[in-house]
Amino acid sequence: MGTAEPQIATRAETQLIDGFQLVIEALKLNGLDTIYALPGIPITDLTRRAQADGLRVLSFRHEQNAGYAASIAGFLTQKPGICLTVSAPGFLNGLNALAHATVNCFPMILISGSSEREIVDLQQGDYEEMDQLAIAKPVAKAAYRVLHADDIGVGIARAIRAAVSGRPGGVYLDLPAKLFAQAIDAELGRKTLIKVVDAAPKQIPAPEAVKRALDLLRGAKKPLIILGKGAAYAQADADIRALVEKTGIPYLPMSMAKGLLPDTHEQCASAARSFVLPAADVVMLIGARLNWLLSHGKGKTWGGKSAKDWGGQKFIQVDISPQEADSNVRIDAPVVGDIGSCVSAMVASLGNWAKPPAEWLNAVSEKKKGNVAKMAETLAKNPTPMNFHSALAVVRDIVKANPDAMLVNEGANALDFTRSIVDMYKPRKRIDVGTWGIMGVGMGYCVAAAVTTQQPVIAVEGDSAFGFSGMEVETLCRYKLPVCIVVMNNNGVYKGTDKDPTGRDPAPTVFVKGARYDKLMEAFGGVGVQATTPAELRKAMEEALRAKKPTLINAVIDETAGTESGRITSLNPSAAKKK
Ligand code: ADP
Ligand code: MG
Repeated sequence: MGTAEPQIATRAETQLIDGFQLVIEALKLNGLDTIYALPGIPITDLTRRAQADGLRVLSFRHEQNAGYAASIAGFLTQKPGICLTVSAPGFLNGLNALAHATVNCFPMILISGSSEREIVDLQQGDYEEMDQLAIAKPVAKAAYRVLHADDIGVGIARAIRAAVSGRPGGVYLDLPAKLFAQAIDAELGRKTLIKVVDAAPKQIPAPEAVKRALDLLRGAKKPLIILGKGAAYAQADADIRALVEKTGIPYLPMSMAKGLLPDTHEQCASAARSFVLPAADVVMLIGARLNWLLSHGKGKTWGGKSAKDWGGQKFIQVDISPQEADSNVRIDAPVVGDIGSCVSAMVASLGNWAKPPAEWLNAVSEKKKGNVAKMAETLAKNPTPMNFHSALAVVRDIVKANPDAMLVNEGANALDFTRSIVDMYKPRKRIDVGTWGIMGVGMGYCVAAAVTTQQPVIAVEGDSAFGFSGMEVETLCRYKLPVCIVVMNNNGVYKGTDKDPTGRDPAPTVFVKGARYDKLMEAFGGVGVQATTPAELRKAMEEALRAKKPTLINAVIDETAGTESGRITSLNPSAAKKK
């Protein structure tokens, strides 16, 4: 036809932009400069082109580890951590981390390529066919799918807002293969991109809520503050410290809030935990939930007579989620808002604050002294073979000498003992198994911690826990990350002494005895060290921190050391039955 020619001419002049490029530019526009990924169909070119365009693309050996890396990057930076996976199986591998992010209130976006809607919805058996959006929804804070290139900007903007605003969480973004190749007019396409303004708006608490809380706290005879990982996430460190120090109230840090104030602070009540929880009369929770980790605010831990009995404490809860209050016990004074705004409003309204009664402070410090002395005695022992205590006494010294280093921690006994033995000195340095107490976060966390903080990383890993993500030592070597892994090797899950009563197989909890995890690191050019004494462990850790090379220390621990399920033995159904 006669009109064909001019049309061709216009097309040649038009600059086109495709879906790949729009995704990359939308991320960049919003300062999302790091992608934790595992390439494959249909996102291989997205990883290549993102890298070519200046984004940092960290490629993993298993999507779950990329996902955990993204989730903790979100916690550490307050920006959504981006995990990129292929369709169906890759997506499912990433889903565990997405759920983890949602449960832990970490901002993360899982972006997965997917198959064609037309074929998936008619269930015609496409390559890696799966209705990923539907599957992601129950474990995500929000889930979106983009079908048209000119909606990519909106899709990414919505994902960012959902991930970081209010209570942070995991967001799923479904990008079908066809979308990436869609080409649209470049100028129009770029106009559709959105630079998100004020993605996590401040939420100012109501003045009357602040007053109600402070009135309750002021009248307390035995007040206690509990700092949770929400408080660590908020990056309101100076105001939190001011609130704690100006009120003079003893405080307990939850695991990932350790170091918000140094664990050696005189008001830190960690060493007197089992004394202060039942004894306190008013407890102020700041970014901590009364979930299983705090025995739901009731029962014997809190001085109740039975599991369901409430100890009689009054609670103040500072949280961004208005639905959190009363989830387990009555909250007498909820303060809803972002922790920075809430805590600074409180500090501003303290006026002439009288410190808590000396009787309470003395009782707490007496209890602390006794427990610290007992612990010091245990730590000073030097048994052969090493046990968790003698090994962790070394880690404790190394962390003290390197307070800026990140500490990754997972396992059962390796987790519980490290949490109580190794003091933290600065905010957001300790990252661990979180709300679910899951195993497998280790190496993903190491990569993200090294990349986002530029600090050395120390990982204290149970031998079982390490196994979930152990192959990522290749990733650590490939990116030359300054990570020192200490595998607490006691030959098994909990310990290495179980036997198969029939004599046929190793017991389900037992691994190859005397395994050399250090050799795994050597296979990829990293440093492997076998340590059988605290002195060897110390030397190897010092050298690792000095050399900044990926290092794995196989710390040989007495296989009889360790208890079933670490500190949560009571959650085992068989143990619960015995009670
Ligand atoms: P922990 O396990 O350390 O006790 P949780 O994960 O149970 O901590 O609780 C964290 C709480 O912090 C959640 O209830 C979450 O809503 C809240 N939170 C997270 N970020 C913020 C923030 N910026 N401001 C206020 N609350 C927050
Ligand atoms: Mg073990």
